[in-house]
Amino acid sequence: MTDVKGTTQATVSSLSGAAGNPVFAAPAGTRTAADVVTPELVARLTRDVVGSGSTRNHAPFTGEQLAQLPESTPEDVTTAFARARQAQKLWAATPLRQRAAVLLRFHDLVLRRQSEVLDLIQLETGKARLHAHEELQAVSVSARHYGRKASAYLAPKGRVGVMPTLTKVTELRQPRGVVGQISPWNYPFELSVGDALPAFVAGNAVVMKPDTETALTALWAREVLIEAGLPAGVWQVVLGEGPVIGPAVVEHADYVSFTGSTPTGRQVAQGAAARLVGCSLELGGKNAMLVLRDADVDKAAAGAVRGAFSSAGQLCISIERLYVHESVADAFVERFAARTRAMQLGADLAYGADMGSLVSERQFDTVVRHVDEAVAKGATVVAGGRARPDIGPYFYEPTILDGVESPMAVCAEETFGPVVSIYRFTDEDEAISLANGTPYGLNASVWTKNGARGRAIASKLRAGTVNVNESYAAAYGSAQAPMGGMGDSGLGRRHGSEGVLKYTEAQTIAQQRLVPLAPSFGLSDEQYAQLMTRGLRAMKAMRLR
Ligand code: NAD
Repeated sequence: MTDVKGTTQATVSSLSGAAGNPVFAAPAGTRTAADVVTPELVARLTRDVVGSGSTRNHAPFTGEQLAQLPESTPEDVTTAFARARQAQKLWAATPLRQRAAVLLRFHDLVLRRQSEVLDLIQLETGKARLHAHEELQAVSVSARHYGRKASAYLAPKGRVGVMPTLTKVTELRQPRGVVGQISPWNYPFELSVGDALPAFVAGNAVVMKPDTETALTALWAREVLIEAGLPAGVWQVVLGEGPVIGPAVVEHADYVSFTGSTPTGRQVAQGAAARLVGCSLELGGKNAMLVLRDADVDKAAAGAVRGAFSSAGQLCISIERLYVHESVADAFVERFAARTRAMQLGADLAYGADMGSLVSERQFDTVVRHVDEAVAKGATVVAGGRARPDIGPYFYEPTILDGVESPMAVCAEETFGPVVSIYRFTDEDEAISLANGTPYGLNASVWTKNGARGRAIASKLRAGTVNVNESYAAAYGSAQAPMGGMGDSGLGRRHGSEGVLKYTEAQTIAQQRLVPLAPSFGLSDEQYAQLMTRGLRAMKAMRLR
């Protein structure tokens, strides 16, 4: 492992405190990609992928090929939907309680077999093991939440009818059918299975197109969910280039669940609109953190490290803009910079590194371009600002910039890397308006010792989630509450009731008993109208809703 000052550390080869626990039994830090991604594993995980072509993915830690994978054509996507449609009928007829039980069993299997998926996440994304574990936590929370709350969200509900007691009304939640899910590479476990779980529990099948670079993680999740009881046909996977097979997924889906960049999200939305099917879009961000004058500067500095550098900043809810009150700015920047410079970068399949690699040359190039352009136009590098080819081809130091101004790209564009800019403010209203000065609206963070004031400021920020005295994990991890973006950051929400009801169609069944909703028993139209008028007044007086 290597810190950002270039000191080489010993390779972590064992985990303290974990002896005897089978979850952590593997000799961490000594495994290689070839030990983990064996031909047998790849053959097992990919055998149900609909596609006879061939593609490959890569390990960001080294840039080398990781696995040879099947590749699907648009025709294969058609086949996958036909298979999913067939399997969905039986699945939808499976009692809700049994569907929910699959999620709870999956929860336990994931926790038990975590070292397998942590290795795959690290190898496919290049992230530190601690950050891979965040994905596992998010998936477990989602499995528990929807496993336990599915019947509260989805069971038939009695509603008050137009004529109470005479009109018996039930609201049903019918599955959409086959959901098309398109996922990015940055959180391949959470953004594949984590988002699919509520679709499954609602009785849908899913045809998923994960990013090819992180397909093994999604396929591992599929294998374990099948072991937990999901019928194999209910989850189909296709692999290939987004612009080639992505539109085919949108073309066949009864609902589209998309996570990725805002430009691609717009294309997906247009495809869904043309077919009059619904979609949810979880898109990009340029997230702001506000450090108020009464913030605990030390805690805020630690929170900024988590917020800006988790998964090397390749996190949609990552902090890229830091607004700090002038009165605490010097103290904050000093502590934040010290923590950042002390971060350990590493490429081991083991805990210990504070940050891993960027995922690809494309992400690496964007980071270099944003930092170099800002520096050329007068910004100052407070910490980091260098590539680290000595560790791996796409490693880049966690970087703090000061003096960033428009029109530097890093000021307004999503970098999606370990780069954060400091802006000082004196007036809180001004800070709120600067934080809101972006078309995005995904996540924000406020730091203050006064929780009530923090929450009041949070409500003025235009972002789908706002964390007070945390960077992103408090809101994201609270699966009972909705998570998603305002403005260019998306449409619809994951988590909570919205996160599962979006995968359903509401159906109202109303049975009229004894009297019709029309003149009857010899009443004239006028007498009927008078009777109904009296009835409407009475129902208001009785406080019926
Ligand atoms: P991307 O838009 O390039 O790709 C996302 C997915 O869409 C991939 O599977 C890709 O193959 C597919 N795709 C590409 N072109 C397509 C097309 N024309 N039709 C259909 N599908 C297509 O995004 P990315 O670079 O992989 O991911 C990074 C972006 O995702 C960032 O902007 C990040 O903020 C965003 N993101 C958002 C969230 C969220 O929850 N809001 C979560 C993670 C990532």
